[in-house]
Amino acid sequence: MSIHDLKFLQEKVNKLKEDGVYRVLPVLNGKNSSTIVLDGKEMVNLSANNYLGLANDPDLKKRAQEAIEKYGVGAGAVRTIIGNMDLHEELEKKLAIFKKSPRAFIFQSGYDCNIGTIQAITEKGDLIISDELNHASIIDGIRMTKADKAVFKHSDMEDLERVLVEAQGKYKTILIITDGVFSMDGDLAKLPEIVKLAEKYNALTYVDDAHGSGVMGSHGRGTVDHFGLHDKVDFVIGTLSKAIGVKGGYVACNEVAYEWLNHRARPVLFSTTLSPGDTAACIASVEKLIESDELQKKLWDNAKYFKEQLGKLGFNTGHSETPITPVIIGDEAKTMEFSKKLREYGVFGSAIVFPTVPRGTGRIRCMISAAHSKEELDKAVKAFELAGKDMGIL
Ligand SMILES: *Cc1c(COP(=O)(O)O)cnc(C)c1O
Repeated sequence: MSIHDLKFLQEKVNKLKEDGVYRVLPVLNGKNSSTIVLDGKEMVNLSANNYLGLANDPDLKKRAQEAIEKYGVGAGAVRTIIGNMDLHEELEKKLAIFKKSPRAFIFQSGYDCNIGTIQAITEKGDLIISDELNHASIIDGIRMTKADKAVFKHSDMEDLERVLVEAQGKYKTILIITDGVFSMDGDLAKLPEIVKLAEKYNALTYVDDAHGSGVMGSHGRGTVDHFGLHDKVDFVIGTLSKAIGVKGGYVACNEVAYEWLNHRARPVLFSTTLSPGDTAACIASVEKLIESDELQKKLWDNAKYFKEQLGKLGFNTGHSETPITPVIIGDEAKTMEFSKKLREYGVFGSAIVFPTVPRGTGRIRCMISAAHSKEELDKAVKAFELAGKDMGIL
């Protein structure tokens, strides 16, 4: 046996298979829209983060194509050397206007944004306090700093206050980090209370609004806008890959934070910036959101309709406050089986089970979009009904 057989990895892969968690990725044949062709079969898609259908918007495609003609397909360098195009500057300006923030600083993804920002703004002698259900990219970002870390129970304000009280006088800077929308249940962070506690205990606030941008607040300005907390949250993170429909991430922040990130955000210093096509499409997308809230309205109407229909059938759709609709099945194996049944009935709804969510709360997580037609939603509801009856759940 040769060392190059990577036996240590083979053992791990075998274990995945034994545990029944080995995955084969489904293959999309064509675009990611409200109906998809998956492994050759047409299905209603309930799993994309393309909330507003903008990933396939003709205006966005046209702007990307024009930018590719003018600027080429790649930015050619990291931004801090010679990759910074007027397009990138324009996107940042548009995002700042959209978010009603002094500045916005872009990254290649929401993931990079958390990795880069958290590390750049904290150091040894600081404390980061994080909600236990925060996204993996926040957890990874926190792992990369030399600051101390503390976790508070999910949306538990007493627990957050306990940590803040214990930390008083021990740190230079305290930073509270939370998701704006929690993606597994669709619940919102208690931002008004978090901001109040931050003020009381002199802490900074950092909200990752990946699932809130384009969805919550006026024209999709996000969870901070929804709660009327502009100027009260120091760092607001958004992704350009979910509702915005393209690729990238950004942090809305003040002027000095922008200047510092320009010098110290490692994903920007050491990795090539967004491509011209992506950047131009993002600009077109943000312009659309600023101009009209028609897509948000359609999104919320669709979500309301879908939740009502499933509720009428007797399904438990949890306590979501957003278009994210978890349909709780419970048992892990049953949830996987339910997802398989849905596929047989022409609907793709991904099963989310332990360890991503607590044991016994397996769910089909439905991501409703403005692009779903009434017919597609009805087809999805029918599939849930048939699968529920087949499995003796209804
Ligand atoms: C999706 C998501 C990200 C990552 O965004 P990408 O642009 O896909 O890298 C970061 N944070 C949260 C809360 C997310 O839901």
